Amino acid sequence: MTTESSKAPPLYPKTHLLAASGIAALLSLALLVFPSSDVEAKKTTLSLELESPAEQLTQDQDAADAVQATNEPATSPFAQIDNGAEDTQETAQAEPAPIVEEKKSASHREVIVAKGDTLSTLFAKVGLPTTSVHEILASDKQAKQFSQLKHGQKLEFELSPDGQLSNLHSKLNDLESISLTKNDKGYTFNRITAKPTVHSAYVHGVINSSLSQSAARAGLSHSLTMDMASVFGYDVDFAQDIRLGDEFDVIYEQKVVNGKAVGNGPILSARFTNRGKTYTAVRYTNKQGNSSYYTADGNSMRKAFIRTPVDFARISSKFSMGRKHPILNKIRAHKGVDYAAPRGTPIKAAGDGKVLLAGRRGGYGNTVIIQHGNTYTTLYGHMQGFAKGVKTGGTVKQGQVIGYIGTTGLSTGPHLHYEFQVNGVHVDPLGQKLPMADPIAKAERARFLAQSQPLMARMEQEKATLLASSKR
Ligand SMILES: [Zn+2]
Repeated sequence: MTTESSKAPPLYPKTHLLAASGIAALLSLALLVFPSSDVEAKKTTLSLELESPAEQLTQDQDAADAVQATNEPATSPFAQIDNGAEDTQETAQAEPAPIVEEKKSASHREVIVAKGDTLSTLFAKVGLPTTSVHEILASDKQAKQFSQLKHGQKLEFELSPDGQLSNLHSKLNDLESISLTKNDKGYTFNRITAKPTVHSAYVHGVINSSLSQSAARAGLSHSLTMDMASVFGYDVDFAQDIRLGDEFDVIYEQKVVNGKAVGNGPILSARFTNRGKTYTAVRYTNKQGNSSYYTADGNSMRKAFIRTPVDFARISSKFSMGRKHPILNKIRAHKGVDYAAPRGTPIKAAGDGKVLLAGRRGGYGNTVIIQHGNTYTTLYGHMQGFAKGVKTGGTVKQGQVIGYIGTTGLSTGPHLHYEFQVNGVHVDPLGQKLPMADPIAKAERARFLAQSQPLMARMEQEKATLLASSKR
């Protein structure tokens, strides 16, 4: 339930009306924090962020983001290095149209599939007789794959000097292509699957608008930006501590096929400077095969609890022992913290634990209560709905999405009401000292340093190169 601070009760309803729309809330934040010139652009980012949260986290989206990011390196001073992205033009297809191009030599023909096209019409376009369609389809069972045409797909024909088809080739996506090659008896079908090579890519960014917008400008995909926020989520409060001029460096795995980025792997190392203080993280996979993030000197980035269960949210009400309830209009303690964010924004479990409740609870509306060990309990109220697989009696992992921002129960606008209990007593989650997780085991320290030191050195070097080149 949203509130004002106890010092200024009359302000509350006004503030809250603003928060009633998640967009209004973020825009008001934008107005407070960001240069006015960025506010217009901020709106467009918001509409992107309002897409289904589940979709945003899929690999597909990640791959799409990666492709998008590499399509614009020329315009961005922070383009990734070491990804060979310069020659991605080759794969950029023009607006599909029924054009027959003459390319390379007289024997090479290319056709783009348009609406209404069949293999026969395409053969006709390159001057091949319709009978040859039947011939090739009959030559190999799998050749039928050539008749499953997609709008915009490109077919490449190689013709022999006497006008016969010697080779037909088509790229299905970034990773797969199919071909038919003439032999003595007929045609041989081939399906070629490219294995992506894994590169590491580097990105540097400065916060000059919102985090998501600045990250996008630097060339970091949405899902990598979310990853970065969770890597540093124990130390940096992304809801209220981000400032103009904050900086980040990220080295991450990038999957590349023929010089084109087709997807991303995990963040390998990252650095985030928040209000002058720099945090560093390195991914390390221990001998048991478990991966986790550590500081450069081997302390765990993970703590028993995440500081903020919602990324990119604004605190709309703090913990207070006495305030006027916005709906009940009575003085009541506000035993939690409210985070205003657009409807549908993911809410994460603050720590590993057992789900005591995932259901409706009176004025809290759709609520999740998690028990963390014997001492701690967290509560998440007013959710729009629960994430898949989150149910009473189940378990959740730290950082797992448990539900989405909504305004169910006694609530005047989309926000998360978040409570934290220690031994059954409500405490201010923002005032908690977060317990730390274990550092690198002594036995693995040398191995860890052998991996982390080169990554640290590379970030340093890449940034220096980048800054030197931007000064010209
Ligand atoms: Zn509340």
